[in-house]
Amino acid sequence: MIDKYNREIDYVRISITDRCNLRCVYCMPKEGVTFLPHSAIMTYEEIVTIAECFGELGIRKIKLTGGEPLIRKDVSSLVGKLKQVNGIEKVTLTTNGIYLEEHLEALAKAGIDGINISLDTLDQNKFIELTGFDGLLKVRNSIDKALAYQSIPIKINCVPLRQFNDRNSLLSLAALAKNAKLHVRFIEIMPLGYGKNMESYSEQEILDILGSSYSELEPYIKSLGNGPGRYYNIPGFQGKIGFISAVSHEFCSSCNRVRLTSTGILKTCLQYSGGMDLKVALREGSSKEELKNIIKKAIDRKPESHVFTKDRQTIAETLEEKGMSQIGG
Ligand code: SAM
Ligand code: SF4
Repeated sequence: MIDKYNREIDYVRISITDRCNLRCVYCMPKEGVTFLPHSAIMTYEEIVTIAECFGELGIRKIKLTGGEPLIRKDVSSLVGKLKQVNGIEKVTLTTNGIYLEEHLEALAKAGIDGINISLDTLDQNKFIELTGFDGLLKVRNSIDKALAYQSIPIKINCVPLRQFNDRNSLLSLAALAKNAKLHVRFIEIMPLGYGKNMESYSEQEILDILGSSYSELEPYIKSLGNGPGRYYNIPGFQGKIGFISAVSHEFCSSCNRVRLTSTGILKTCLQYSGGMDLKVALREGSSKEELKNIIKKAIDRKPESHVFTKDRQTIAETLEEKGMSQIGG
């Protein structure tokens, strides 16, 4: 599918739940979260039917996300079904890693093509403060166990918040890619939901910090994975260091993705509210042809860019108020 700005849309991030076992400060409040009833969330069958429509329209890659996808039962069965869908070439997952260890074998058997693990600090106390849960050891254990599955590429995603990371902690996070065959990516905070009040290090600041320890840092030209990451090689490192800087290095002109929320709303840009309700269409009996037409119409309206850095007053009524766990980050 080519949208009206000549971008090829071949990637969908599908959120399978709005629930999470952590409470990352930039994503969910510590208390008082209200979750959606199960009836409001797409069933696996509904997700597969919608994925079949995506596959027929030219979507090639699916990432399962949430909330925390691994709190939903039997995620590997969904992965296996999505892997069978015509046209879909890659099915990957993003997780906070807490429950990953016990799912690894089933995910590998189902043919998962990659796992992103979110990890923002290697300090146990900071991890508790940041996520509200004493789970760092579980995450590290999951990473170690995941590395044993040679067929599953692993990426660590870190939102490098000033409040929780200093120079040394950023260097330690980067060093994960020295000691193991995985990539570490630093993701700039986006001013969405609770993230609006947080400040992360800029890409340049982290490059300067890394450069002061590793003078041989060199850009890696090829692209890795589904999206807009920019990568660097450090001699002696087994994996690369990547940056995803949606605000300071806007990459909307090459955006290849759409999002499906756990409630079945197709969203074509993170920052705009609303979207097309595929779940309701499906539950009201729409055929796959009708669903595909709705998807095409949505993609035709995909905005040219986000407006994180522009004058928001002029477009205030269209902006998304929901946080990442509700949209599907
Ligand atoms: N629970 C899973 C996890 O943490 O990987 C999947 C969902 S989570 C919303 C997906 C990713 O979004 C995480 O890597 C998280 O750090 C990131 N994220 C959440 N809020 C964000 C924000 N405001 N800006 C940038 N990234 C954000
Ligand atoms: Fe949960 Fe992921 Fe949000 Fe953290 S970032 S609260 S792990 S959904």
